[in-house]
Amino acid sequence: MRAHEAGALHGDLGTRGPAWLRAPQDVNALVPQLWPRTVRRTPEGSLEVGGLDVTALAQEHGTPAYVLDEADLRARCRDFQQAFADADVYYAGKSFLCKAVVRVVEEEGLFLDVCSGGELAVALAAGFPAERIGFHGNNKSVSELQRALDAGVGRIVLDSFHEIARLTEMSEESGKKPQVLIRVTVGVEAHTHEFIATAHEDQKFGFSLAGGAAFAAAAKVIDEGVLDLRGLHSHIGSQIFDTSGFEVAARRILELQAQIRDARGVELPELDLGGGFGIAYTTQDDPSTAGDLAKRINKIVESECDAASLRKPRLSIEPGRAIVGPAVFTLYEVGTIKDVDGIRTYVSVDGGMSDNIRTALYDASYSATVANRSSTAEPMLARVVGKHCESGDIVVKDEFLPADVQPGDLVAVPGTGAYCRSMASNYNHVPRPPVVAVRDGAARVIVRRETEDDLLALDVG
Ligand SMILES: *Cc1c(COP(=O)(O)O)cnc(C)c1O
Repeated sequence: MRAHEAGALHGDLGTRGPAWLRAPQDVNALVPQLWPRTVRRTPEGSLEVGGLDVTALAQEHGTPAYVLDEADLRARCRDFQQAFADADVYYAGKSFLCKAVVRVVEEEGLFLDVCSGGELAVALAAGFPAERIGFHGNNKSVSELQRALDAGVGRIVLDSFHEIARLTEMSEESGKKPQVLIRVTVGVEAHTHEFIATAHEDQKFGFSLAGGAAFAAAAKVIDEGVLDLRGLHSHIGSQIFDTSGFEVAARRILELQAQIRDARGVELPELDLGGGFGIAYTTQDDPSTAGDLAKRINKIVESECDAASLRKPRLSIEPGRAIVGPAVFTLYEVGTIKDVDGIRTYVSVDGGMSDNIRTALYDASYSATVANRSSTAEPMLARVVGKHCESGDIVVKDEFLPADVQPGDLVAVPGTGAYCRSMASNYNHVPRPPVVAVRDGAARVIVRRETEDDLLALDVG
């Protein structure tokens, strides 16, 4: 959907918002699953994170700002690590990557997925061990592949026949034998937004299972013997709540695994089922815990392995959003308010689609609360919008805010850790916000705010 079409689409929700929001909610309540774990509303009414008041954070670091609860991020890493104790957990760096987060991921014992030379550069700059990195992408360039080979990246996920040929030639030249996986599109349409469902057949990623390309790719890599084929890979989409998609994916990919064994006598030792585990953006979302996911996925894989008489391969998963998404909220300041009589109230904040494109791009839903104070005013259905020159520049489509919300108030939007800073733009030459990590009463800037000098530095005309 293009941004300028967003107005029409959001209009379809009806003038009073979606049904679940028709009953006004307590505007001061914080629903725990939406917020990083150290966030609370103080007796004075403002939000506190990591022991710090958001008003003080806003004064010191300005708004908008992404506020990262480091304790929450680490706890989520640990949850996955413990739940998937027999598997390798790759943090999907594209959801949000900077050196400080790379270090957290390393300290917590996770692996790391990157999908571009830039992401690889950040990981290596932070000292992340190359052998714990996986490299994805449907169009990795020769120079990106060369960097991965030179750095000794742990595994490269092959995505096309051109890439097999390219990496085979490069490996022969350099005398290296990189470990590779084959990305298989298993034909599962995950129950999620079309743009982020990636395993149905008509799409750019991976080798088709149904069309036989996936088998042909595996056979080619095995027969040539230049690359070290470790296993198959499937990623069926993102923001998935229903594990039945993983079940179908695992069944189909293990059938392929059995087919490869029967044809080539090779039992591939690894299996990667990708990421995509959903998180709560509104009170309507009910995500699974890492423990639940691990139980269900292990069970699926075990029974499918039994059915195909396969040894259980070592599993890996690639959560991005489920690790970093809920650990961050965006702090904005309200600038202007417009009441469209009988329809809704627009609350404009000092950021927007440049720091969170997901609402315009995916029709994503978010929640919000006034963060600098509590209020006894009546709940008012509001739309939180940005400052950009697009009517589709919406941050939160529908939310109850107190009717006395006013310019100068702070608004916090939770669940913005994944695919917000990493997809941020400079649209309208708005400098991108900083990421401020908070832990045990101390805040540190881990990505500084962009300045107008930064913007002009690239403009060499
Ligand atoms: C995007 C992506 C992920 C992470 O998805 P999340 O929804 O953030 O968990 C994992 N693996 C691959 C191949 C991806 O493209």
